[in-house]
This record gives sequence, C-alpha cells and structure tokens, in this order.
Amino acid sequence: MPTDIQSLTREELELQFKNWGQPVYRVKQLLEWLYVRRATNWDAMTNLPKNLRDQLRENFSFRQLELVRKQGSQDTTQKFLWKLSDGQFIESVLIPANPALYGDASDRHTLCISTQVGCAYGCKFCASGLDGWKRNLSPDEISGQVLAVERLRHSEIAPRLIDNIVVMGMGEPLANYDNLLKALKILNAPWGGGIGARKITISTSGLAPQIRRLAGEPLQFRLAISLHGATDDVRGKIMPVNKKYPLFELAAACREYQDKKGRMITFEYILIAGVNDSLGQTKPLAALAKKLFAKVNLIPCNKVEGLPWERPSERVCENFLAALQKQKVAATLRREKGHDIDAACGQLRLKTEREMRMEK
Ligand code: SAH
Ligand code: SF4
Repeated sequence: MPTDIQSLTREELELQFKNWGQPVYRVKQLLEWLYVRRATNWDAMTNLPKNLRDQLRENFSFRQLELVRKQGSQDTTQKFLWKLSDGQFIESVLIPANPALYGDASDRHTLCISTQVGCAYGCKFCASGLDGWKRNLSPDEISGQVLAVERLRHSEIAPRLIDNIVVMGMGEPLANYDNLLKALKILNAPWGGGIGARKITISTSGLAPQIRRLAGEPLQFRLAISLHGATDDVRGKIMPVNKKYPLFELAAACREYQDKKGRMITFEYILIAGVNDSLGQTKPLAALAKKLFAKVNLIPCNKVEGLPWERPSERVCENFLAALQKQKVAATLRREKGHDIDAACGQLRLKTEREMRMEK
C-alpha cells in the first residue's frame, strides 16, 4: 500500500520534491491545500502543475475518513463514527466549549481521537477492548480525525475549530508509538494543524517503558494515566496491564516524565460500584497522587452493553471526592450529563458492528 500524503512531515515532503526536481515553494502550496484549505482530492490543487499532481497521485494515496454515523448535536458532545479505507470503524468525540478538563480555562473545542482499531489491553470495563485488537492507525488516520471534523463543521479555510486534543479514543496510544508521534507532530506543526503541544493530552493505561520514551521527546505533551485502582490488588482485577507494569513501575515512569517535563500529570479514575469506590481506596490514591503531584479526575463509569459494571450512586461519588480533597489532593468529579456519550469511547463502533453482524 502506498504511503498517504497526509502521513508525511514537511521535511519528508521537501526531500521528495527535491528528488523530483520540484522547487521547494511547491511544498508550501501543497501543505496549504492539505491543512489550511482541507482539500479532499488532488484535482482541487489547481495551483500545482498537472504533471506534479499526476506524480503525487501515482506515488501517494490521499485518503479521507468516511462519516457513517453521528450522535449528539452541535452544541453538545458529538460523537463521530468513521469508516477507514479497509472498512474498519473508529470513533472521535467533539466536546464543545467545555470547562477546562485537561488544559487551560480557555478550552473551546476538544476532540477526543482514536489511535487503533480495537485494543489489545482488555481492561474489564472498556468497550474498545471487547473484541480485541485489529490494527494500528496510520499517522494520516490519526490526524485525519481532526481534519475531517473541521471539514464537517466549517466551510473551506475558516479559522480552526479544534484547539485541544485528547488522545483518549479507541486504542492504547503508546502501543502505536511511532505513528502517534508522527500524527501529533503534524497536528502540532505551524504548517500543519497548528495545535500547541500543551493542548494535546495523551492518555495511557500505563505502558511504563513508553512513558519513559515520551519523556525524552522534545514536545511538551500533557500526560493522563488511566489509573482506576490505587493498589495492585484492585487495579490488577480490572486492568490486566497492571501485571506487566505494576504500580511501583508505573509510578517510577511517571516520576521520570515529570522530572524531565516539569508537567503535571492527571490520573483518570473511573468509579465502578463495588470494585474501586470504597473510601479505603482514597488513602493509597491520595498518597500516589501527592507523590507524583498528580491531579485526579473522577469519572462515574459508563454502562457498556454486555458488561456487568454499574456506576456508584451520586452520594458515593461525592464522598469519594470529598475524601480525596480532605487529604489535600487536587481532584474533580465529572458531573455533566453531556459526557454520557463520550466517556466510553468504542461503544458506537461496537454497537454498529453488532448490528451489522445481526443483519448478515
Ligand atoms: N488506552 C488509553 C486511551 C483510551 S481509553 C487509556 O486507557 O488511557 C480512554 C479512557 O476511557 C480511559 O481513561 C478509559 O479508562 C476510559 N473508559 C473506558 N471504559 C470506560 C467506561 N465504561 N466508563 C468510563 N470511562 C471508560
Ligand atoms: Fe484499551 Fe484504554 Fe480501553 Fe484499556 S481503557 S482496553 S487500554 S482503550
């Protein structure tokens, strides 16, 4: 399969154009078609000579995500189901004008993006991992989610809509490390998506070696850890990855990230009734958060069809929050109803695939 044109950085394009004997300003023109005007076909690129367009067409693919399903409305959380060129499905979620969840108070539009089809990590509460892992997304399929949403919501060359990215959709981003980093580099570059690295949050289930590797990267991404348990016993029951990278190892990797980046880490903690919501868990959770200067985001878990987990009552959630705050931990509890459709990414895909199987 040819490489997609949207998977190349400016440097790579410059090298390619140089080899073809094309002047370097042509790269600038091409990038403008891709990332400013958000073109969807070669023929739209009218200021590129026809022979160059033909050469590009012969050597690179120019794929688009196909929208197959949309949930939600323009002023609430919107969920998009995309079909990839090989027929697989992925999801993205647009969270508009949101009070800052992961970044600054000025958050306007946050897009939650996927990095893999399915997930190999099999966390017990998650819809994304239910059918296992299918494949990694290529860089253009990762960054393409941002472009495709902007295209749907905006006319050509309107100013950018999305100013925050959370890599919290389907898949384990750090298990698709190279493609993720390339996509984020493109989304971050002034010639590409123009989204500041500090406005990009990567969420991981806790792949310690890759967290260390990320700490060595020049870009200053925010890091969120899907913790969901503050002791190996509790975490190990719901997250198989904890056996490979137990909490002491995860904590050491987080510490390294923080030492090198000087950035605050966020712990995601979904509350599941009777599993991890006892007040006893707040003590080790507070200790870990304080040790790593981490902020805790509590999220009442979402019901996933076919899984037995339930949300704790509001009172239990509020008490859990209060106990953390009493121990001087920066913690928030997600209360907005609007998040119901986004929290458990992977569900729309699962539902669609199940319906398609039933139709067959
Ligand atoms: N694989 C990465 C990123 C994708 S998961 C990770 O695990 O961090 C994105 C977030 O959705 C994670 O914090 C995950 O724990 C959460 N999530 C999964 N299933 C959920 C559910 N049923 N209810 C609420 N959040 C859920
Ligand atoms: Fe994979 Fe993250 Fe879901 Fe776990 S929570 S199965 S790592 S997508």
